[in-house]
Amino acid sequence: MNVMELFETMEYGPAPEAANTVQAWLKEHERFGLFIENQWVEPASGQYMESTNPANGKALVQVASASSADVDVAVAAARKAFKAWSKTPDHVRARYMYALARQIQKHARFLSVLESLDNGKSIRETRDIDIPLVARHFYYHAGWAQLMGRELPGYEPVGVVGQIIPWNFPLLMLAWKIAPAIAMGNTVVLKPARYTPLTALKFAEIVQEAGLPAGVINIVTGEASQVGDALVKHPDVNKIAFTGSTEVGRSIRRSTAGSGKKLSLELGGKSPFIVFDDADLDSVVEGVVDAIWFNQGQVCCAGSRLLVQENVAERLLNKLRARMEKLRVGDPLDKGIDIGAIVSPSQLQEIECLVAQGEAEGAEKWQPSWACPSEGSFFPPTLFTNVSPASSIVQVEIFGPVLVAMTFRTPAEAVQLANNTRYGLAASIWSDNINLALDIAPKIQAGSIWINCTNVFDASSGFGGYRESGYGREGGKEGLYEYVHPSWETSQIPEKSQRTRPQGVGENEEVANTSEEAEFALPAIDRTPKLFIGGKQVRPDSGYSLGVKGADGKPLGEVGEGNRKDVRNAVEAAHAASKWASATPHNRAQILYYIAENLAVREGEFARRIMQQTGRGRKEALQEVHATLSRLFSYAAWTDKFEGVIHRPPMRGVTLAMHEPIGVMGVVAPDEYPLLGFISLVAPTIAMGNTVVAIPSPTAPLSATDCYQIFETSDLPAGVVNIVTGEREGLAKVLAEHEDVDALWYFGSARGAKMVEESSASNMKRTWVNYGRQRDWLDPIQGEGEEFLRASVQVKNIWVPYGE
Ligand code: NAD
Repeated sequence: MNVMELFETMEYGPAPEAANTVQAWLKEHERFGLFIENQWVEPASGQYMESTNPANGKALVQVASASSADVDVAVAAARKAFKAWSKTPDHVRARYMYALARQIQKHARFLSVLESLDNGKSIRETRDIDIPLVARHFYYHAGWAQLMGRELPGYEPVGVVGQIIPWNFPLLMLAWKIAPAIAMGNTVVLKPARYTPLTALKFAEIVQEAGLPAGVINIVTGEASQVGDALVKHPDVNKIAFTGSTEVGRSIRRSTAGSGKKLSLELGGKSPFIVFDDADLDSVVEGVVDAIWFNQGQVCCAGSRLLVQENVAERLLNKLRARMEKLRVGDPLDKGIDIGAIVSPSQLQEIECLVAQGEAEGAEKWQPSWACPSEGSFFPPTLFTNVSPASSIVQVEIFGPVLVAMTFRTPAEAVQLANNTRYGLAASIWSDNINLALDIAPKIQAGSIWINCTNVFDASSGFGGYRESGYGREGGKEGLYEYVHPSWETSQIPEKSQRTRPQGVGENEEVANTSEEAEFALPAIDRTPKLFIGGKQVRPDSGYSLGVKGADGKPLGEVGEGNRKDVRNAVEAAHAASKWASATPHNRAQILYYIAENLAVREGEFARRIMQQTGRGRKEALQEVHATLSRLFSYAAWTDKFEGVIHRPPMRGVTLAMHEPIGVMGVVAPDEYPLLGFISLVAPTIAMGNTVVAIPSPTAPLSATDCYQIFETSDLPAGVVNIVTGEREGLAKVLAEHEDVDALWYFGSARGAKMVEESSASNMKRTWVNYGRQRDWLDPIQGEGEEFLRASVQVKNIWVPYGE
């Protein structure tokens, strides 16, 4: 037998990881209570549930099944602890977090084994990926705790945070949630997933070991319908951070609507894995293994759609099949296996159903010749070809080791196929031509783009979705803003239903007439502002106009009564203007300056309009116009200064965190400050490259409609700003429900805010609402700045490894 033959026939022997220490720990506990205020407590119901080992279906241990009464106790504990924890100095919080990181490292092997047992993922992955990343997350955020005062001045923790996590990366998802939350001074009630609570319970012991103050971290196990629901609806929870399916995310969006709870959603995905013909195909094969067979394919950002350039497709698929034949599925604690067990029999059943559906729809299935272990929940690596972009297995997140492959001819076609999904979590691009890869990366609508690599994560680089993959980022500085709010909001200005007339100001002041009006009693020339859509002044579809009254109650003019059709046309026009996103920041800045220049020329006229509508005096009105000019200058300045950053994750490479426009945004302007409020919303959104459909204040719309003459003369491309006047809530609802609007800002009533949050759930558009509270738009801290810019962009992290 020669060496080659030996090599061909070489078999893996078993290489099991010992589980005795973990088994002894499980035995010692027998059953786990809830972790509240650093104590183990019995669930109120006295009910327990089993956690099982997916590799053999056997029970591991009993854990408490909490009810809403337990959630109340945990939230109260977190609230009590918040008082002191939110005031705990940065350095002290940093020390606690450092202690957590150290403890995690000390228990690394224990946690790896426990995670494998409870989840079914391979020990190779828990040992080399999950647990090291957990420790890294706590170290990294210990750093942000230390720097919070300096790096986030003017921000405060939000309060008690309810956190709900899935089963696919149990401890890693816990770390992604808890580390930034407590670093920023919040306290936490966390619900682990039903199938995988055990590493969270071991983590609770680590919290005790690290000596964290009681109540800062509380862990409540139980069913979604009990614990999850109670957390989401709890009136004393200030924020919900959720990772899980898009379907549940949508229902959480609806049930928290209007409550004022901050919300971040990390949801599902169907990520493309794009291979160009110049890619190194052997590396690609290993990339595919990591993309779709990592963690049995139960990865939100799994590269589950292989898009390969036609001329290399057959070659790649042959190599891939050969590699699949060599993959090993089996006991997760065996160090030599590639693919472990599926988390539960019901998840296995879902995968089997979808695979059967794929076959029924005519797709060609390929699986290796060997069989999976018969005991436990296992599924073999599977490749589907002969699928169409609309097939269900191409569109639906299977969340298992199933890959679908399609071909493309040109880069443009690759982009089209890649974006042909409701999700937008991640994408991999494989090409040896860096120019091509970096050209494609911004065109893919996804939060993480991996160039010649896949499924790489780091605490320094934000992770999160576009479109129905959710909103919010975890990791990086951008992730911190999910857990803080501006300090000024603590002493918020209450809701007012009336337009603002600052007390004692301008009430007796007359609106100055021009000299002509004074001299001749001429009848005014009728000037009814129309809607402004696609750069044109258009009559409203309804054919109706709405009267606008002045502050004195007398008719001041009329505006068009926009309706659903007008909003749709405006959204279409905004989409048609999408080239604005690729205008250079310098160019966008020039146009904002030009708008300011043209407004300045007419400041007297604009001031007069403000006086008529609000009853303010000339001084105040001019102050508003001047503040508007300053605001335009601010955003012109920021266009090329609100930039992304370059992260340095611990690998040979960089991550480019790019700020990208969100797309078509709706903005619903406040009543107070008719000009300044309107421009304060429109300017940041267009500065960042979005196109806008703006609904002016219904009580004082004329300052906004006057603006379109300014826009027309300032080189603003048609369709970048569209203005639809009319009844606010009705128009806002159309925008909120519109599937082609990507984000919506609403500054109206509390009721309207609830409606916007609720109605936006259908396409998971990002919303920013004021819950009926007013801002002082004159104050630059409340009325302008990075808060507005952050809400105008989404962060895309592009991972670029280097070196041969
Ligand atoms: P899931 O949505 O069923 O459950 C997630 C968590 O929410 C669990 O703890 C569950 O008990 C709880 N939950 C379920 N219904 C609830 C409700 N009505 N109210 C409150 N809580 C509720 O998801 P899953 O099956 O556990 O996880 C798989 C999904 O998670 C996939 O869609 C995957 O893409 C997604 N995921 C996303 C990310 C990300 O970062 N974007 C990461 C991991 C997993």
